[in-house]
Amino acid sequence: MEESILSTKHSRKHCYQQEVEALMSQFSTDPYHGLKGHQVEAQQLRFGKNEIATKEGESKWKLFFKQFQQPLVYILIVAGIAVGFLEEWVEMGAIFGVVAINAIIGYVQELKALKAIASLSKSLMAQAQVLRAGVFQIVPAQELVPGDIIQLNAGDKVPADIRIISERALQVDESALTGESLPVEKQIAVIPDEVALGDRKNLSFLGSLVTHGTARGLVVATGNDTEMGKINTMIASAEVLETPLTQKINQFAYRLLWIILALALFAMALSLYRGHSLEEVILEGVALAVGAIPEGLPAVVTITLAIGVSRMARRKAIIRKLPAVETLGSTTVICSDKTGTLTQNQMTVQALYCEGKVYSVSGVGYAPVGEIFYKGQKINALQERSLTTLLHCGYLCNDAQLVQEKEWEINGDPTEGALIVVAQKAGLDAAKLMVDFPRLDAIPFESEHQYSATLHKGFTNNILYVKGSVERIMTFCDTLLESEKALILQQAEAFGKKGMRVLAFAGKAIKAQQSEVEESDARSGLEFFGLQAMIDPPRPEAIEAVDAVQKAGMKVKMITGDHKSTAQAIARQLGMNNAEKGMSGLELNDLEEKEIPSLAEEYSVFARVSPEQKLQLVKALQHKGHIAAMTGDGVNDAPALQQANIGVAMGKGGTEVARETSDMILTDDNFATIRAAVEEGRAVLDNLIKFIGWTLPTNISEGMVILMAALMGVALPILPLQILWINMSTAIFLGSTLAVERKEWNLMNRLPRAADAPILDREMVFRLLWVSAYIVIAVFAIYRFALEQGHSIAYGRTMAVNMIVFAELVYLLNCRSIHHSPFKIGFFSNHWLILGILVMIFLQMLFTYWPVMNQLFRSVPISGADWMRILAASGLLFGLVEVEKLMKRRLG
Ligand code: ADP
Ligand code: MG
Repeated sequence: MEESILSTKHSRKHCYQQEVEALMSQFSTDPYHGLKGHQVEAQQLRFGKNEIATKEGESKWKLFFKQFQQPLVYILIVAGIAVGFLEEWVEMGAIFGVVAINAIIGYVQELKALKAIASLSKSLMAQAQVLRAGVFQIVPAQELVPGDIIQLNAGDKVPADIRIISERALQVDESALTGESLPVEKQIAVIPDEVALGDRKNLSFLGSLVTHGTARGLVVATGNDTEMGKINTMIASAEVLETPLTQKINQFAYRLLWIILALALFAMALSLYRGHSLEEVILEGVALAVGAIPEGLPAVVTITLAIGVSRMARRKAIIRKLPAVETLGSTTVICSDKTGTLTQNQMTVQALYCEGKVYSVSGVGYAPVGEIFYKGQKINALQERSLTTLLHCGYLCNDAQLVQEKEWEINGDPTEGALIVVAQKAGLDAAKLMVDFPRLDAIPFESEHQYSATLHKGFTNNILYVKGSVERIMTFCDTLLESEKALILQQAEAFGKKGMRVLAFAGKAIKAQQSEVEESDARSGLEFFGLQAMIDPPRPEAIEAVDAVQKAGMKVKMITGDHKSTAQAIARQLGMNNAEKGMSGLELNDLEEKEIPSLAEEYSVFARVSPEQKLQLVKALQHKGHIAAMTGDGVNDAPALQQANIGVAMGKGGTEVARETSDMILTDDNFATIRAAVEEGRAVLDNLIKFIGWTLPTNISEGMVILMAALMGVALPILPLQILWINMSTAIFLGSTLAVERKEWNLMNRLPRAADAPILDREMVFRLLWVSAYIVIAVFAIYRFALEQGHSIAYGRTMAVNMIVFAELVYLLNCRSIHHSPFKIGFFSNHWLILGILVMIFLQMLFTYWPVMNQLFRSVPISGADWMRILAASGLLFGLVEVEKLMKRRLG
């Protein structure tokens, strides 16, 4: 078995059976410099992009055949075969034509939707941190080549197959490849024997997720050569275009299937009993069946959802799972991060606290221009030893970089960036510090642990710098007196009340021989240096969005790792309801399980929450019947994101793991985008209901017309072929234009739609029934009138067909808004709809006057006076629906 390129090209041994050094030399690389530019180019030529080619063809056929697996299509096929027996070739051709057109439209639409979703998720392609020519740089994962050395951190997706060179507490979730859901630990040592995939512990595979720790690795295979590429499961994980609503519609279709069959059999039996010929009886059954089937329904549902996806993308919300489009429309509570989502994540240190003194810092933004003040007096910070240590610690225990491009910018975590800015304002010599105290090791920040640490080489000893949340750091400073702790906490609280984010700083000396740092080193015996407090103002658009979301009947919850006072202050600035109702993770811990749901509902701010508590909160809110959207960015947020009805991940910040499990990604990490997505979701639901409310009366009335003709024992007022014509042409040119209907102005002033509500509420069903009845009566009236005037049956049928089409045409205008008049929402605002109406009118002219169509559909030209009758009856319908809406609005 060929397991990797290496095993075939260079030796008989698999790469997990070889020493790292041996592998490195095969690629002419080393762990300190990585590949050089020309080597990368050569490898890229040889191996191509790090991408997996998908087996598109197979899935396309599947998608096409899926279009025929619908209950309503089954009836059509049976009907087609039935007329085939009667040798009614035109009818048969038309019925199969409809089946084919339907399948093609459905196929094209679904393919488009699938492609859109796929390309959207691709646009957020993963990046990789790679060592090339001696420096680490970030490149798109596609550009990796075998031989590259990459760095992996918790939360990353493994971008290629790699051999692990070094690791710290590394755990990887390989479920995408092996199906094993528990994270596995990795090792560096060679594995001499040939073993199965899951046991190759010194390799990590493309598509796995780093759930814990960090690692450095050598890329041994890319693209199709990776294990994932070989089994090519990417396509299997492709989206299923099924949503709760499409499922409901499918169930509805099955029920309809039986009703239609029963009615058709009943009508046929009756006609047989009346002594009609077998041919007539079959035609009647077919007419009823094809009339009652809403052929356009599945296609329009997909189109509407797909349009929703692209509208959301335009507003910076990338949908990863189609059902989310719908669920967004029913969302009742949005749980959001604070930092970066609700706030600008533009941190500025404004106050320092050190040895009982509070200093203030001037200057805004990231430009390192400003001064340090004590009691209103400008001071030279470098003359105060302890203050200098505090700033040193903040500067060195730091992974961010301050760069000057057009403006001053931060690469990395803004919280850390702010610490650099303040250190430079105080006049620290940054370059000298880096040289004097080179970093030996680090423990990266993780939200759950609330601290980070770095180990530096000092002159005599090594130095450990630690920074993190005040509560946490204090537990590490075991020499602090209780009274000192109380003072510090009091000060932190005071900063927090002003909405400032507070970090505590501490450190200790470490033996010069020790060049690695363990968590246990950082967690005891630290000396306390002081606090730094920074502001992070709310995003202006978030203030507006919070307001809009609350007006739309949804709740906003802030869920943050930050301190309670800080969080509450920001919540207040954002105008969140119940901003004063804040609870910390500790308080949440002390609650009994059964108390949590009502408190989750009541409180607005949850501070210092752990990922498990996020999960707990989502569940609690769902227990209360909420449809919850929840943001998350960390590795351990995945369960909460999965549990939430809408898991929201960040496109800029946040980890790949969170993105992988999310339903939706915000490309701008902005709360306002969630609100935009909810709005679009509501618009999608609205348009679907409008379409369904429009299409069903046609089907009901056509079915009823046939059934009543059978009951009364008269000739059919509409022929099967004519019914097919009506259904297809109106679905395409009239109904589908509702999918692009703009959202109504008051969309966000309504309450969220209950997720378990039936698609059509009682009001809609009522309207649908009386409109159907109206059409049935109008059709019979106009048909009888024509016959009584001495016209032919063909003439009567032509009038009947036009009656139905024009009734649908005006009713389409009614359906543009469920509660309001089309004039209120802008009569011409949907250009597609106006165009569709014009095309439909033109087609009816052809149907009525063009000899070819006359021959095909057995229609005949009708008089102007009869047109007036048809238009009058249609106009009356339009007026009646509007009067009904008006009365409903008046009565509340
Ligand atoms: P948020 O919900 O605001 O993103 P985090 O979970 O990122 O909160 O941060 C929680 C706490 O951890 C902060 O209040 C701060 O005290 C501390 N903290 C934040 N960033 C860092 C960092 N880079 N290094 C050390 N501590 C940090
Ligand atoms: Mg954060």
